Amino acid sequence: MLKETPRPDGSPEAAARVPFNRAYTAGRETAYMAAAVRSGSTAGDGPFTRRAAAHVAALTGAPRALLTTSCTHALELTALLLDLRPGDEVIMPAFTFTSTANAYVLRGAVPVFVDVRPDTLNIDERLIEDAVTERTRAIVVVHYAGVACEMDAVLDVAGRYGIPVVEDNAHGLGGSYRGRPLGSLGVLGAQSFHMTKNVQCGEGGALVINDERFAERAEILREKGTDRGRFFRGEVDKYHWQDTGSSYLLSDVLAAFLLAQLEAFTDIQAGRERVWAAYHERLAAWAAANGVRRPTVPEGAAHPAHLYYLLPPGRAGGDALIEHLSRHGVQAVSHYRPLHDAPAGVRYGRVAPGGCPVTERVAAGMVRLPLFAGMTEREVDRVVDAVVRHRARRPRRR
Ligand SMILES: *Cc1c(COP(=O)(O)O)cnc(C)c1O
Repeated sequence: MLKETPRPDGSPEAAARVPFNRAYTAGRETAYMAAAVRSGSTAGDGPFTRRAAAHVAALTGAPRALLTTSCTHALELTALLLDLRPGDEVIMPAFTFTSTANAYVLRGAVPVFVDVRPDTLNIDERLIEDAVTERTRAIVVVHYAGVACEMDAVLDVAGRYGIPVVEDNAHGLGGSYRGRPLGSLGVLGAQSFHMTKNVQCGEGGALVINDERFAERAEILREKGTDRGRFFRGEVDKYHWQDTGSSYLLSDVLAAFLLAQLEAFTDIQAGRERVWAAYHERLAAWAAANGVRRPTVPEGAAHPAHLYYLLPPGRAGGDALIEHLSRHGVQAVSHYRPLHDAPAGVRYGRVAPGGCPVTERVAAGMVRLPLFAGMTEREVDRVVDAVVRHRARRPRRR
């Protein structure tokens, strides 16, 4: 069962503001971390790492998962594994976090920004083919809010051009597309266990490997270019510098924290789904009356309630709602600034034909509501009450 976290002042009645996120702890984190410390095995790839990685592999349906220091670093590993070189192009949505692009820019590759669909806010699969050139080396999809991209169409284009697909699955742990777990659909996937994600250890991530061809090299690149993994398994009697690489291993102390969360996955998800469903139901009439768009979940996409958003009409509609909620003690926030017209996006990237008008509109209007496991009924009520008091579509004045 989820325990309600007491308010900072200890009083459930205090009208403290409802935070956008309150990092959830499942209960065993401290004990597991203490056990890791006592064992003396605090480096990467210890016993807690093995157990946590097995959970990640099971949740993503992948044959193999390697814990990393972040999703950013897992994405960097995908760039190394795909041997990206300066001038290579990587197709990705313009509406995503900077790490999706930076991982490839670090290798000198050029992000090619494609617009998103107005309904799911995922990369618009119908625009991908026009963005393909002879230099395209990867297509990176982001399952925004954990709602699956149109993967059949994405994989069809990718297959026809022989381009590997990578999933930035930072939002999507536990989600699925037509019965297939998110993270299992590309050749490689990247998970995030950042404090703001459904399952967290402060800072952490995982590389999910669906194509066995990458398995051995991934292990080496992640271990400073050495075959230390094989050495520890007794497969070689010394380990050597085998390849390029870096230090992408998560400490077993953090893996211990992460394991406690992964073991509580069902409870965490139940807590988040309850909030998501309450918003979706209780804001439906208000949204319809005010011309506000709520999340679209296509048939065949099961999502892990990573975030709940509203898109009010008009360019300033989002900011107005965020301000209104703030005045009523609710912390709502916007989301990604478009990458294609950001300073670094202009410097390093290219915009696909047609530009990214949907991304620009969505980024300007986005409002994300508080959503976390352990949110109290009272907090949900307060958010809903505050939202429905807002008139997003102002009556015409004469
Ligand atoms: C959070 C996030 C990341 C980065 O995750 P870190 O673990 O903080 O590196 C990358 N991509 C997306 C889409 C994210 O939401």
